[in-house]
Amino acid sequence: MTASAEKYTRQTLLDVQPLTPNLFSLRTTRDAGFRFRAGQFARLGVTKADGSVVWRAYSMVSSPFDEHLDFYSIVVPGGEFTSELSRLREGDSLLIDRQAFGYLTLDRFVDGRDLWLLATGTGIAPFLSILQDFEAWERFDSIKLVYSVREAKELAYQELIAGLELRDYLADYAGKLQFIPVVTREQHPGALNGRITTLIENGELERAAGLALTPEHSRVMLCGNPQMIDDTRQVLKQRDLQLSLSRRPGQVAIENYW
Ligand SMILES: Cc1cc2nc3c(=O)[nH]c(=O)nc-3n(C[C@H](O)[C@H](O)[C@H](O)COP(=O)(O)OP(=O)(O)OC[C@H]3O[C@@H](n4cnc5c(N)ncnc54)[C@H](O)[C@@H]3O)c2cc1C
Repeated sequence: MTASAEKYTRQTLLDVQPLTPNLFSLRTTRDAGFRFRAGQFARLGVTKADGSVVWRAYSMVSSPFDEHLDFYSIVVPGGEFTSELSRLREGDSLLIDRQAFGYLTLDRFVDGRDLWLLATGTGIAPFLSILQDFEAWERFDSIKLVYSVREAKELAYQELIAGLELRDYLADYAGKLQFIPVVTREQHPGALNGRITTLIENGELERAAGLALTPEHSRVMLCGNPQMIDDTRQVLKQRDLQLSLSRRPGQVAIENYW
């Protein structure tokens, strides 16, 4: 098969930045033909020592109009893919499927006033792509980015988040975004402390946001730990916020990472 007929392209790592021993971000070149919507994921491939290729899904952090691709990764101890990925350095290559996938995109919602983006850990990735694009800022009056980690040092992309409203192309929307960090295993100044479900049930999240979660106005995206997603979906269901399906538009969209 010729290279152009392959289902994937070979891209070059431009930068690798560790955040903690188990978390790092990476930047790669982008094939000119690779198109995606903010919130989607790519399939990344790494070649193991025996020559076989392992593929895993990774949400894009970068926006659809950036020339490069950014990803954010955990290192799972003994993980087949991340053991290889975390060994790669600048100049090494990474395989990327030609097609992007996924439905954690804003077109899941037909309307809504307030956008709630709820992430655990690396699940922050698709929301950073969404927030670096215009659509969310144009469509919603307010955006609440809720980012839950165990320890404060795991809060990634803080500069990017703080700088969003300073970007020229988002300047008109300044004041729409509120960042609400949640740190579960330690007290951290400015962060809520507790599971996302508990913070919804006891009203703390809505108090911090200064907004209520309602079926009329709220559109909620959940990404990351499948347990958090399941539990939060149940809590939201009790508030009449339902999963959005193509045959029945609703208020909630989800992406499980495992
Ligand atoms: C749609 C989609 C998008 C994804 N996007 C990302 C992303 O942007 N960044 C990312 O790091 N991972 C992402 N993942 C997870 C990723 O595909 C792999 O699971 C991860 O790279 C680990 O691969 P592995 O082979 O090393 O371990 P695996 O054998 O795949 O996983 C082993 C175990 O590690 C845990 N685990 C896996 N992924 C994570 C994670 N991200 N955070 C915490 N624990 C985890 C789970 O308990 C899992 O059972 C995504 C998964 C899906 C389905």
